[in-house]
Amino acid sequence: MPVAEQNFWLTTVAIPRTAPSRPLPENADVAVIGAGFTGLSAARTLARGGANVAVLEAETIGWGASSRNGGMVLTGLKLGVIKLISLYGRERTQRMYAASLATIDCVEQLVSDERIDCDFARSGHLEVACKQKHFDDYARQTDLIAREFNHQLRIVPRHELPFEIGSSLYYGGMVDEVSAGLNPARYVAGLAVAAMKAGAAIFENTRVLKIEREARQGTQGWRVATSRGALWARDLFVGSSGYTGSATPALRKKLIPIGSYIITTEILPEALARELSPRNRMIYDSKNYLYYYRLTPDHRMLFGGRAAFFPETEDSIRQSAEILKRGMIDVYPQLRDVRVEFVWGGTLDFAFDIMPHAGQMGGIYYAVGYAGHGVAMATWQGQQMAKMIAGEKTENPFVGIPFPGAPLGLYNGKPWFLPFAGAWYKFLDWVS
Ligand SMILES: Cc1cc2nc3c(=O)[nH]c(=O)nc-3n(C[C@H](O)[C@H](O)[C@H](O)COP(=O)(O)OP(=O)(O)OC[C@H]3O[C@@H](n4cnc5c(N)ncnc54)[C@H](O)[C@@H]3O)c2cc1C
Repeated sequence: MPVAEQNFWLTTVAIPRTAPSRPLPENADVAVIGAGFTGLSAARTLARGGANVAVLEAETIGWGASSRNGGMVLTGLKLGVIKLISLYGRERTQRMYAASLATIDCVEQLVSDERIDCDFARSGHLEVACKQKHFDDYARQTDLIAREFNHQLRIVPRHELPFEIGSSLYYGGMVDEVSAGLNPARYVAGLAVAAMKAGAAIFENTRVLKIEREARQGTQGWRVATSRGALWARDLFVGSSGYTGSATPALRKKLIPIGSYIITTEILPEALARELSPRNRMIYDSKNYLYYYRLTPDHRMLFGGRAAFFPETEDSIRQSAEILKRGMIDVYPQLRDVRVEFVWGGTLDFAFDIMPHAGQMGGIYYAVGYAGHGVAMATWQGQQMAKMIAGEKTENPFVGIPFPGAPLGLYNGKPWFLPFAGAWYKFLDWVS
């Protein structure tokens, strides 16, 4: 059977659909761009607070990274804590780390309040060391995290790794029991239902084309031109992540869209699944050009990585199936004769400093820059930014940090440098 170029998660759920003929409203309190975790989470919170919300989605609900990801609900940020402290100081880093823990509680609470059937489980995550020096660094990190952030991670020496992973490739690991896993397509579908139940209106196949300032009856706001007509909104919130386009050019210039790809195998026998991941962890390795992998709830191996750096195309998806299968067999030779059934890709967003960013730019609210760490953070940022838009005081340590653009300004939103970046990361993995 050939590999299906299709997102496995979408075979497990019917994503809600909205009526295509429904006209856009003339006005909204808040227009939200993007129906992924960020936009839907914000829309739900805003609508629950009584706002009249229109979510504008160029494609369909959850079409972006939110239905395509690995479903890893991870603590921490993409940058390590030592780097974070050097950039932002202890106090702000403590608040950022606390926020990263709060993001997991936020998802758990939302799933429970809205009874979203998405296999949420606090199975913990495991980072595995590809080199001895990476493992040695885990001790420094765990000490620092315990001391500065009062959060316990557990070091797993090499001889204890078989209790965590059925692979002999690694030098040791580091476990965080607080992280979780879920089925992202079911989660984003549930989030959309929750947003609609709260009163938000979602408009699919409605691409925002142009945004202009326009006052109405003395109130400052925005004229939002879309592929299905225009509406006026008092506030505008952008949650378009790696798919941010020409409608928000200032934001687009701050983000690098990067492709990430995933394969899933056929359903594995129970004993083999348990051997590969005895504690059902969310696993990723210590490289820059990393692999991330986990069992799906029905016991397939889901194996992902940056097989190509460019955002997904039919060619890159096809090539990724081969590249990722080779990577998976390096980690798990036991899977040599197992069939790969699905391959797909998606685009995530990196800021130039690899940090999440939120706040206002030219009067437009936004939350972006999750760098592959967005399942929990996007949900949380949506909620936080909704509160900010509603005028509530919020504690969001990612608002107000510097949001750098490209060095020398050499970037207009088209990532011409990605092949070089890919080669650079491979080089870094070789030397560091
Ligand atoms: C393959 C892959 C694996 C990943 N694995 C993980 C993981 O295991 N754990 C983790 O934490 N994170 C992971 N991520 C990252 C995570 O999925 C994202 O950070 C998160 O989904 C971002 O959500 P979002 O709502 O901000 O953006 P998206 O879900 O990407 O949604 C943005 C939406 O905006 C819409 N849009 C864009 N422009 C316009 C416009 N002009 N008008 C209207 N709509 C527009 C798009 O159509 C899109 O649907 C992964 C990402 C990928 C691609």
